[in-house]
Amino acid sequence: ALLAHNEEQIFRSRYPAVPVPDVTLPEFVLQDVELYGDKVAFVEAVTGKAYTYSEVARDIRRFAKALRSLGLRKGRVVVVVLPNVAEYGIVALGIMAAGGVFSGANPTAHSSEIKKQVEAADAKLIVTSGPIYEKVKDLDLPVIVLDEERIESAMNWKELLEAADRAGNNFTNNEIHQTDLCALPFSSGTTGMSKGVMLTHRNLVANLCSTLFSVGPEMIGQVTTLGLIPFFHIYGITGICCATLRNKGKVVVMNRFELRTFLNALITQEVTFAPIVPPIILALVKNPIVEEFDLSKLKLKAVMTAAAPLAPELLAAFEKKFPDVQVQEAYGLTEHSCITLTHGDPAIPNGISKKNSVGFILPNLEIKFIDPETGRSLPKNTAGEICVRSQCVMQGYFNNEEETARTIDKNGWLHTGDIGCIDDDGDIFIVDRIKELIKYKGFQVAPAELEAVLLSHPSVEDAAVVPLPDEEAGEIPAACVVINQNSKETEEDIINYVASNVANYKKVRALQFVDTIPKSPSGKIMRRFLKEKMIENMESK
Ligand code: AMP
Repeated sequence: ALLAHNEEQIFRSRYPAVPVPDVTLPEFVLQDVELYGDKVAFVEAVTGKAYTYSEVARDIRRFAKALRSLGLRKGRVVVVVLPNVAEYGIVALGIMAAGGVFSGANPTAHSSEIKKQVEAADAKLIVTSGPIYEKVKDLDLPVIVLDEERIESAMNWKELLEAADRAGNNFTNNEIHQTDLCALPFSSGTTGMSKGVMLTHRNLVANLCSTLFSVGPEMIGQVTTLGLIPFFHIYGITGICCATLRNKGKVVVMNRFELRTFLNALITQEVTFAPIVPPIILALVKNPIVEEFDLSKLKLKAVMTAAAPLAPELLAAFEKKFPDVQVQEAYGLTEHSCITLTHGDPAIPNGISKKNSVGFILPNLEIKFIDPETGRSLPKNTAGEICVRSQCVMQGYFNNEEETARTIDKNGWLHTGDIGCIDDDGDIFIVDRIKELIKYKGFQVAPAELEAVLLSHPSVEDAAVVPLPDEEAGEIPAACVVINQNSKETEEDIINYVASNVANYKKVRALQFVDTIPKSPSGKIMRRFLKEKMIENMESK
């Protein structure tokens, strides 16, 4: 049909809308918890440490009470610097139940990076564990540590919970509303430095309602999910911890990827659902260690892969090796509270979209594809910037109106910076990314942040960081550097300088000295051009 000139081409889910109840996130995930009291909610794969549903509900409440008695006020941010541990979900939901705002930080980050997040979030408190305490001890904020061992200058989690018990049962949280902020994960969005993404209870409850739309009563209590994706990332806390609690499943918690431990956990813990990222699929397909295991013992029904593109050849190789495991690709972003597009379940009609697509539009969401130059929405089968509108769209970037206005337009559309298209059947394909973001093994690396580190070196006059394709990591951060003529540093020296200032996953992994950094008339780094040049140079070497 011909469209009128101003008419927008908006696409909606092929499934009916789902209701979003007006409750807070802790209330939503703990609904009916008393029916599952003795069931294990979280178990650490390596140590076996576990929490049942009644312990989870109890400790969320105790921790919320403890935070209140420490004086945490509504809307105040608590930065959590922890690897994936059995207590992680309890800590995050306890902060939210107290009216606070949970901001997860990468525990492998450099102390200067954690400091930046703490300052940008205007945090009032830090939760961490003994081995990481060193990184936060100089930040001049109260710190709670999870370990049994006491650290002199920090508060102890267990002791706080016990003190909360002694204070009696006077905790109510009826002044917390669904429209209040509850999480502040960090993302660099389409440009610049990492920023706090303001998410409310409603954002996350709405996301879970959309994501879990196809879960029937027969699935409740049945799913064992692998908790390997970092819980500080929105995919980990919402897509794994909260989604599993809502469905009364079990999370098998792992704090890092090591192939043997991973396969062991899958088999002994009878994991049925494993949300992972493409580099793990690569390891499962290619690494000879996999042959040491009796794969017929796997109970795995599905893997979900998101955070970065999955190469079609890799998907095919995985399906050949694991014919009984369904691969569910998904696409999402922090600014949209997590999953946005997905393959659902083979049990529902059209639940599994075409191979190499990222799936269909979840219920309650509106999607359009726009011409990035003109802003006009495009018809199906035409690639454009993906824009999404729903109750999951963030409230904005914390203390950054300019970036917020650049990302969410006046009609409420979130501009993702990703390029994709929808076909006749409503399956969506991601074809490119126009935002600056680099994704190393699914982790965000902001070019602007690495450029700032490079420029802080006395011999570096100008620098630009771009993604280069890499089989294992998906993309690696690569730098072009203009070095001072009189300096003695080598390319290797500059690589090492960056490495000593950032978390391991953010390291610059390729670097070339150049005469100038090409910039557009408006002063913007011509990243696409640079990336192509770098690839050319490397191929000719
Ligand atoms: P994050 O906020 O860290 O989850 O990063 C979100 C970004 O990761 C998206 O805007 C995409 O650029 C990328 N991404 C996420 N999922 C996929 C996917 N399935 N395929 C391609 N890129 C993806």
